[in-house]
Amino acid sequence: MHSENVDTIIIGGGLSGIYTAFLLAAQKMPFVLLEARSRLGGRILSPEHQGFFADLGPSWYWPMINPHITALIKTLGLEGYPQFETGLCRFQAKDGHTETIEGYPMEPPGWRLKGGMISLVQGLGTRIPREAIRLNHPVCEIERQDRGIRVTVGRLDQAPLCRLTASRIILALPPRLAARSILFTPDLSYDLTQAMLRSSTWMAGHAKFFALYDKADWRKIGLSGQGFSLCGPMGEIHDGSGEASRPYGLTGFLGTPALRRKDKETMIQAILAQLPLLYGPEAGHPVKVYYQDWAREEFTATEYDQRSAHNHPEFDPPAGKTSIWDDTFHFAGTETADHLRGYLEGALASAERAASAVI
Ligand SMILES: Cc1cc2nc3c(=O)[nH]c(=O)nc-3n(C[C@H](O)[C@H](O)[C@H](O)COP(=O)(O)OP(=O)(O)OC[C@H]3O[C@@H](n4cnc5c(N)ncnc54)[C@H](O)[C@@H]3O)c2cc1C
Repeated sequence: MHSENVDTIIIGGGLSGIYTAFLLAAQKMPFVLLEARSRLGGRILSPEHQGFFADLGPSWYWPMINPHITALIKTLGLEGYPQFETGLCRFQAKDGHTETIEGYPMEPPGWRLKGGMISLVQGLGTRIPREAIRLNHPVCEIERQDRGIRVTVGRLDQAPLCRLTASRIILALPPRLAARSILFTPDLSYDLTQAMLRSSTWMAGHAKFFALYDKADWRKIGLSGQGFSLCGPMGEIHDGSGEASRPYGLTGFLGTPALRRKDKETMIQAILAQLPLLYGPEAGHPVKVYYQDWAREEFTATEYDQRSAHNHPEFDPPAGKTSIWDDTFHFAGTETADHLRGYLEGALASAERAASAVI
């Protein structure tokens, strides 16, 4: 079995882990980043259709309250555009009847990113040494040893894929997921484990839908694309079009709770039956659809995330400490941020905190 000695191991290649890697790389610090999935980005996922990137995870940032994201967009030479909100909103009551109402402008205004949120991940990825990134490397065990920390990659019920030993680690994944899926030796304290399990993973129980069209017929009849439904399956809908031209998009969140959602095909058919009731017959004939149920993603959600969580994550570790094991083990990940926990902004802020602890 392959084993290796490294200076720093970053566990998790979501925005927080990749941004940590970017900050270490900028200081020429050696590290390895272990990512369980076959792709980087974690909760950021934006499949491409004809040059357009459909955000199935985060789609907004809020320039007025997101200084880290705004600065990173500038550093990477990316551009944003405001959420389209011109026109009226559609509302569907519990009994299914629909009404056209005044819309709810986002406050503060939300912006989308040209190239999708994945362009943050791609931009950071090109600034990190390629050989430092190890995809398909799920960490299953973390052991403190006399000299350093041993990290085992693989599945707990199978032979390990490889082992790495490091002077320090940065755990850049949702604390609840880490407490549920990684074996720690010595045991983490009872209070820390409880704090990790209690910290809900933001949006992990949700599912998102994206429909693309050649025309935005809803705009022609004075609708903004915004919609709310109390009967579902979609609960909240927005215009998800690119800034200027086609494809145009309707996108949003399922209202049906995770435990009641059926398989992908059944859900897509139900959504395509609902959209024409809100936006007219053409809304039922998109050129492309995407559906992502985050509650069914083993590297995002746990069984605790299947119930809807409306509160922002509360990560409250003993004595507020985000570093343990004599400062050789550091928490990152948006759920551990001091401010704007759960958001992209929190992912960057937590990465800065962890990186500055090791640099
Ligand atoms: C549907 C949805 C909509 C959202 N909308 C917005 C929005 O509009 N604006 C906003 O600011 N935020 C939004 N968010 C939240 C935003 O996506 C997160 O704040 C951010 O992506 C979190 O990044 P992270 O790196 O902290 O965590 P994650 O993205 O969860 O990254 C953790 C990484 O660790 C990996 N991993 C897991 N287990 C292991 C393991 N054992 N070993 C190795 N790697 C592992 C995962 O595969 C993943 O890549 C949304 C999220 C979702 C799901």
